[in-house]
Amino acid sequence: MAIATDTQLAQKASTEAAAEKKRWTLNDFDIGKPLGRGKFGHVYIAKEKRSNHIVALKVLFKSQLKQSQVEHQLRREVEIQSHLRHPNILRLYGYFYDQKRVYLILENAAKGELYKELQRCKYFSERRAATYIASLARALIYCHGKHVIHRDIKPENLLVGAQGDLKIADFGWSVHTFNRRQTMCGTLDYLPPEMVESAEHDASVDIWSLGILCYEFLYGIPPFEAKEHSDTYRRILLVDLKFPPKPVVSSAAKDLISQMLVRETSKRLPLHKLLEHPWIIQNADPSGVYKF
Ligand code: ATP
Ligand code: MG
Repeated sequence: MAIATDTQLAQKASTEAAAEKKRWTLNDFDIGKPLGRGKFGHVYIAKEKRSNHIVALKVLFKSQLKQSQVEHQLRREVEIQSHLRHPNILRLYGYFYDQKRVYLILENAAKGELYKELQRCKYFSERRAATYIASLARALIYCHGKHVIHRDIKPENLLVGAQGDLKIADFGWSVHTFNRRQTMCGTLDYLPPEMVESAEHDASVDIWSLGILCYEFLYGIPPFEAKEHSDTYRRILLVDLKFPPKPVVSSAAKDLISQMLVRETSKRLPLHKLLEHPWIIQNADPSGVYKF
C-alpha cells in the first residue's frame, strides 16, 4: 500500500517537472548577426545550443520599456503570442530576462519584412495578393476563434518565412476579449445582445485592416492616404474609397475590397466568406504560399 502511494507520488513529481517550463538564459544561445532594430531594442539571429534550432532573439531594454510605459503592453503581447499556434502567426517560443534586458525567443522569419518586398515590387500581382490575403484571413479566423483580436494588421507587422509564407508578428496592440461563456456562465442569460455579440463585433476591426492591406498590396498605397492627417481621418470616416485606373486591378478584387471596407462593423464581409469569394478562389494559390 505504502509502495503504491510512493510510486504515485513519484509519478506526480515527474509529470510536474516535465510540465514546468524550461528557464532560458543567454548561455543557451549562440548569438549571430543583427536582423534589425526596433524602437526598444535589437533583433539577432541566434542558435539554441542544444537543439541547433535557429531563432530570432529580440532584446529589449527594460529602461526603455519603462520610460515609454509599455511593460504592460509587452506582457500582453508575450501572453497572447506564446499561446497561438498557426503556420501564419510568428511563434513566440519563450522569454527570459536579466537585470537590464528582456529577451523574446521568436521564430525566425528568414525572408524578413513584407514591407520591404512591397516597396521593392511597388505593388503585388493579384495572384500574390490573394494568396497573402487568404493566408492572413485563415490566421485571423484562428485568432478570433481564440478571442484574440490583432488590431494592428499592416505591412510593417508582417514577416516572411523561408518558404515565402506570411507570418503575422507584433501582437503589441492585440487584445484577448473575454470568453463570456467561460467567465460569466451563471449570468449569461441576462446579457443584452450587444454584449453577447461584442467579441465578434470587435473582431471586425481586423476585417477592415485586411481590406486596407488588400488595397495596398494591389495599388501600392493605402486607400485613404492624404497629405494632412485630418484629411486621412475625413476620408476614413466617409469611407472615401476610390480605385485609380493604374495599376489595372480586376473588378472581382475591387468588389472584395468594397465588401471589407464598410463603415458599419456588422456588415463587413466575414472572414470565412472572404475565403469563398470568387477573387480568392480564382487567384489564391491553394498551397497557401507565394514563392519568390
Ligand atoms: P516595434 O515592434 O518596436 O514597433 P519594429 O517592428 O521595427 O518596431 P522589431 O519588431 O523589434 O521592431 O524588429 C526589428 C526588425 O528586426 C524588424 O523590422 C525585422 O526586420 C527584424 N525582425 C524582427 N523579428 C524578426 C523575426 N522573428 N525574424 C526575422 N527578422 C525579424
Ligand atoms: Mg514590430
